[in-house]
Amino acid sequence: MPERSPALFLDRDGIINVNFGYVVHAEQTVFVEGIFGLCEQALTAGYRLVVVTNQAGIARGYYSEAAFHAYMGWMQQEFAEHGVPLAGVYFCPHHPEGTVERYRKVCECRKPAPGMILRATVELDLDLASSVLVGDKASDIAAGEAAGVGRCLQVEAVQSMSDPQHVVFKADAFAPVREALLASPMRAG
Ligand SMILES: [Mg+2]
Ligand SMILES: [Zn+2]
Repeated sequence: MPERSPALFLDRDGIINVNFGYVVHAEQTVFVEGIFGLCEQALTAGYRLVVVTNQAGIARGYYSEAAFHAYMGWMQQEFAEHGVPLAGVYFCPHHPEGTVERYRKVCECRKPAPGMILRATVELDLDLASSVLVGDKASDIAAGEAAGVGRCLQVEAVQSMSDPQHVVFKADAFAPVREALLASPMRAG
């Protein structure tokens, strides 16, 4: 039996792409500085790349699930072209106060609940204790901790932004994540 792999769980908005609010088009996308390098380091070290993202914009009727999938198809292609293919994309379309009835509920997947991470763990056969999660909100960290992810890091990558042409990133914002990738027990036992 092959060993289960660790994952680098990535929040999307604020970690992969700059969060201008309900981003769903390629032309709205500014990738966070250093994200592809971080993913390359993770892949090289044996981590699989898994996106876990709350998408309440679907429940709020701002964009459809189909539009989300189309956008994520484009994003997955961008990752593949950078040599860092994503192993999985998990999303929560729900919100307790959504305007679209079928998505209006209290669910087990919306972070801070751990549902997306637990589902990915089963479907991708991941080892949570040696995995790392990076997000920009306390709810990301809470979800990771509730699931049992070994290391969960909260990162604020953007220094300032006014519009897509004027984003200033913090220097080396992912440094703590890169350290965690190196420190995590990759071949324990
Ligand atoms: Mg976020
Ligand atoms: Zn959900």
